[in-house]
Amino acid sequence: MSESKQIRITCLGTGTSHGIPMIGCDCPVCTSDDPRDQRTRTSIVVNYDGRTILIDTSPELRLQCVAHKINRIDAVLYTHHHADHVVGLDDLRRFNAIMKSEIPCYASKSTAEALRSMFSYAFRHDPSYPSAAPRLTLKPIEEPTLELFGRSITPIPLLHGSLPVYGFRFGRFAYCTDCSLIPDDSMTLLEGLDVLILDALRRTPHPTHFNLEQAVAATKRIGARQTYFTHIAH
Ligand SMILES: [Zn+2]
Ligand SMILES: [Zn+2]
Ligand SMILES: [Zn+2]
Repeated sequence: MSESKQIRITCLGTGTSHGIPMIGCDCPVCTSDDPRDQRTRTSIVVNYDGRTILIDTSPELRLQCVAHKINRIDAVLYTHHHADHVVGLDDLRRFNAIMKSEIPCYASKSTAEALRSMFSYAFRHDPSYPSAAPRLTLKPIEEPTLELFGRSITPIPLLHGSLPVYGFRFGRFAYCTDCSLIPDDSMTLLEGLDVLILDALRRTPHPTHFNLEQAVAATKRIGARQTYFTHIAH
C-alpha cells in the first residue's frame, strides 16, 4: 500500500453504553487496575490525507480528544442516535474554534431527526444560546458511496435489534459497532478487508448486539485479515 493510500485508525473508546468501570459495580473487571479494563464509550477517529474523521460523539469526547491529542475534526459520521454515541456532541464546539468553520456531520435521516430534537439549541436558532452552541451542518449519508475529502467511504447497512444503523468502510478497513445482524448485501460490502472492528458485547446473548459467539461466527464469515472487537461490557 503506498504512503498516500494509508489510513490510521485510533480507537477513542471501546466500552459498552455504561462505560467500564460501571457505576456501582464491584466485579473483578470494574475494580481492576489493568488499563485495558478502563473503557470509555465506543468511538474511533480515522485519519487520511491530513484529515481527521470522527465516528460518533461519545459522552467522553472531550476526555478522549485530550488523551489522544486530537487537534482537528474535519467531519463526523454518525452510526446511529443512541445516547452513548451522540451525547458528547456539544464538545465539537471546541473544534469550531480550532477549525474556524462549521463541522459537517453525516447521519441517516432518522439519526439526523433525533439529533435535531436532542440538541435543538445547536440546530435551531435559540436566543438563550447566543454564541456558545456548536456550529454543525447535518448532511445525509448517501448510498452506495459517500465522497469525503477525495475518497469514497462505503456506508454499511446493519441491524441493531430492529434499528437500522450504519457501519462504514474506508478502503480495506471497516467499522461495524452496535449490530446484531449483518444483512447478506452488507456481507458483500465487507469482502476483502485487511482490518475489521466489530461489535462483541458480552458472552451471554443480547437482543441488539452480537455476543462473543456471534461475533466470532461473523468474524469467520467476513474473513478480514485482522478483526478487533469493540463495545465490550464488563
Ligand atoms: Zn452503543
Ligand atoms: Zn462490573
Ligand atoms: Zn446502540
